[in-house]
Amino acid sequence: MIPSIQALLVLQDRDRRLRVLADDLAKIPKDEARAGDRLAGDTRAVQVAKDAMMANEIEIKKVEMDTATRRTTIQRLKTQQFETRKNDEFQALGHEITRYEKDIDGLETRELELMEKADDLRGTLQRAEAALAQTRKLVDEDLANLAQRKQRLEADTLEVQAERNQLAAAAPASMLPLYERLLKTKNGLAVVPVTAGKCTGCHMKLVASTLVKVHSQVEGTQCESCGRLVYDGDAS
Ligand SMILES: [Zn+2]
Repeated sequence: MIPSIQALLVLQDRDRRLRVLADDLAKIPKDEARAGDRLAGDTRAVQVAKDAMMANEIEIKKVEMDTATRRTTIQRLKTQQFETRKNDEFQALGHEITRYEKDIDGLETRELELMEKADDLRGTLQRAEAALAQTRKLVDEDLANLAQRKQRLEADTLEVQAERNQLAAAAPASMLPLYERLLKTKNGLAVVPVTAGKCTGCHMKLVASTLVKVHSQVEGTQCESCGRLVYDGDAS
């Protein structure tokens, strides 16, 4: 194989590794965001449970206030009843008192129901908080793993980059600009073998004159279809 091709192939190998490392590194912020998203559902469930508890508390307070108001009214009516001398007025006040007492019975039943509901809601909240804590633990583990992965990828990148720079310095300077351009435009494949008369980069058949150049190992031979640097892949 032509030494220049050999040098470029080794360089291309490192460049391709750098591309893979860069792709992997670029994925990490998305993975981190996705890990964070997993908390959203559980966080919302906790908020919903808290809101429900709060609404129930407000309802209990309201029932307690309604009860207190009626007790005050009953006290007032009983005073009036005590002070009156008219029998019909006494009886009318008595009916009113009974009505308010019935109201209070109803309100007390309602308060008991609300308190039972409060117990249920507290249980729901506790379960939601436990689920959130569990998810947070898993997410924290994921984030720690991602941070480790990022560190490893960055270290690998530095290492391969240093190696790559040494190889580039040793590669034929006259062919480097073309190589670099092809690497960018041809998806990381600048130098490819020709097998069975075809460029393995674009899979097109090479014209006879180009094939001759490939077989006689002419420096800088390019596929006329895709422009990649080509070498004889059938020769050992
Ligand atoms: Zn080609």
